[in-house]
Amino acid sequence: MTRRRISVPLKYGEVMVGGDAPIVVQSMTKTDTRDTSATIHQIKQLEDCGCELMRVAVPDMEAAESISVIKRASSLPLIADVHFDYRLALAALQAGVDGLRLNPGNIRDKRQIARVAAAAKERATPIRVGVNAGSLPSSPQTDIPLSERMVNSALHEIELLESLGFDLIKVSLKAFDVCTTTQAYQMIAGRMPYPLHLGITEAGLAQAGAIRSAIGIGILLYLGIGDTIRVSLSAHPCEEVFAAYEILKSLGLRQRGLTLVSCPSCGRAEIDVVALAEAVNQCLKKVAKPITVAVMGCVVNGPGEAKDADVGIAGGKGKGAIFRKGEVVSTVAEGNLLEALMREVDSLSLDEEGPK
Ligand code: SF4
Repeated sequence: MTRRRISVPLKYGEVMVGGDAPIVVQSMTKTDTRDTSATIHQIKQLEDCGCELMRVAVPDMEAAESISVIKRASSLPLIADVHFDYRLALAALQAGVDGLRLNPGNIRDKRQIARVAAAAKERATPIRVGVNAGSLPSSPQTDIPLSERMVNSALHEIELLESLGFDLIKVSLKAFDVCTTTQAYQMIAGRMPYPLHLGITEAGLAQAGAIRSAIGIGILLYLGIGDTIRVSLSAHPCEEVFAAYEILKSLGLRQRGLTLVSCPSCGRAEIDVVALAEAVNQCLKKVAKPITVAVMGCVVNGPGEAKDADVGIAGGKGKGAIFRKGEVVSTVAEGNLLEALMREVDSLSLDEEGPK
């Protein structure tokens, strides 16, 4: 893996983004921000599954003003997502938001941006220059590739903010197309010092969107690019957080919660691997402390994988051997495997609210 690009760090509440801070996982609420109790409830759900930075949509003044109520009830730093109307950004800052996301494609008046930058600077609140391929300002140069136009748009906005004496900047360059997105991030990475927020926008439903995001975000992280990530899915936002941690765990960049090692099953399987793996995942999905659990269908690779896991099952004929830290602790009938496995997991003293 390429050595990580070191960016100028930013602070969102108590959360550091950039520099040598861990890659931060963020998501966005899918509630109506004006419905403060629903939004606070969803933020709590997201916090419980490991989300570290929270973005909320601010489509109107009532939503902007709701931020002060949400902020008082939430322990996650809040970022206000503002489009079109700079007054919403000013109101969100007034309400105590920890960060702003502005889209250079849709607030174009320099005087309006100057007012937002001045208010953000006064409060030391970072602004993300959030470029989206779908909302780029129109350009007469249609022969320029989309990725380059995205970079140009971000650099233009960065220069504007810098000329206003504002440098608490984070940048994102999101497109649905993975190649466009990865090209854009690679192009900008050496051209400015600010942290990069990674994502593939409008990535789709949970399964396809997680794959698309894993490829795009994974390529960039592997190249050492990226300081914070969001997996955008048409699904409950907790699914975004689970997918984000799977990407980070796959690259050895963060450790959190369950890592499930399960074989695909085949004609040699001697237990119902798929049902058991799904049940284990359901039971341990919200555990915060890192744990590796293996569910293996037969003796071909079973004992080897189960031995390497914190807890593991290697299937035999209608039964399974339970391993704990490499030692066989029991052999139980297939019908009792889940219960026996969970007993071993419990004995590892996992804490659902434990350290992230
Ligand atoms: S571990 Fe056994 S059951 Fe699972 S895929 Fe391999 S050979 Fe098949």
